[in-house]
Amino acid sequence: MSQLGTLYIISAPSGAGKSSLISALLKEERSWDVKVSVSHTTRAARIGENHGEHYHFVDVDSFKSLIAENAFFEWAEVFGNYYGTSRITIEQALQKGTDIFLDIDWQGAQQVREMMPEAVGIFILPPNRNELEARLNKRGQDSSTIIAKRMAQAQSEMSHYNEYDYLIINDDFEVASKELAQIVAAQRSKQNKQSMLYQEMIAELLK
Ligand code: GDP
Ligand code: ADP
Ligand code: 5GP
Repeated sequence: MSQLGTLYIISAPSGAGKSSLISALLKEERSWDVKVSVSHTTRAARIGENHGEHYHFVDVDSFKSLIAENAFFEWAEVFGNYYGTSRITIEQALQKGTDIFLDIDWQGAQQVREMMPEAVGIFILPPNRNELEARLNKRGQDSSTIIAKRMAQAQSEMSHYNEYDYLIINDDFEVASKELAQIVAAQRSKQNKQSMLYQEMIAELLK
């Protein structure tokens, strides 16, 4: 059966603004049935992050058991921690017609594309390196050692930008935010999606 919902993969170097852009989209577009997938992670929760809202925070043993149970749609090791997307949550949402955003790294994105080539990939770039570092510092959530680790990996993450369908430069937040909304709007207007949504109306018109 074709899936009504669209799966979006959004990747970027840490600090480029993925989480901020996704949460702005979820706030503004209330009429859209769009959700962000809550990943499992073994990293420690940041101040202000809640279990079940930002991530499902689990220990390494629990994460490994979930891998063994095939509970993950994809998983990867990023910055020395495990991160993974729950299979059942994604499948159920897409069947229901809900659009899902996966905020995942390039390794996870490659796994998802293999399983679901119709997934829509969006890559976010910062305007320059200094700004990226400034944002990681401004977020004020990670130690200087962790920020240095994330900056060191930024180039490797960014080198995968051309594996994605859309590229957004997050310089001016309002502009980037609008571009993200436009991508989702365009995706929703695709013929195959509209045909499924308006099946009865179209059948009536073509009688
Ligand atoms: P932030 O994106 O900089 O706020 O940092 P996070 O700690 O939230 O994420 C760390 C890295 O893990 C990023 O590259 C994410 O894209 C990646 N990541 C988060 N969740 C998942 C997931 O479920 N699967 C995969 N493969 N990667 C994930
Ligand atoms: P990511 O999820 O990609 O790691 P965040 O969404 O947490 O990134 O953003 C990192 C920091 O940069 C946050 O403090 C956020 O408020 C800020 N930020 C995001 N986009 C912009 C922008 N266009 N201009 C200035 N600051 C931004
Ligand atoms: P953070 O620790 O800052 O929340 O996330 C760091 C990175 O992990 C981000 O680039 C984020 O996209 C990635 N990430 C978060 N959850 C997942 C996940 O479930 N799978 C994968 N592959 N990456 C994830």
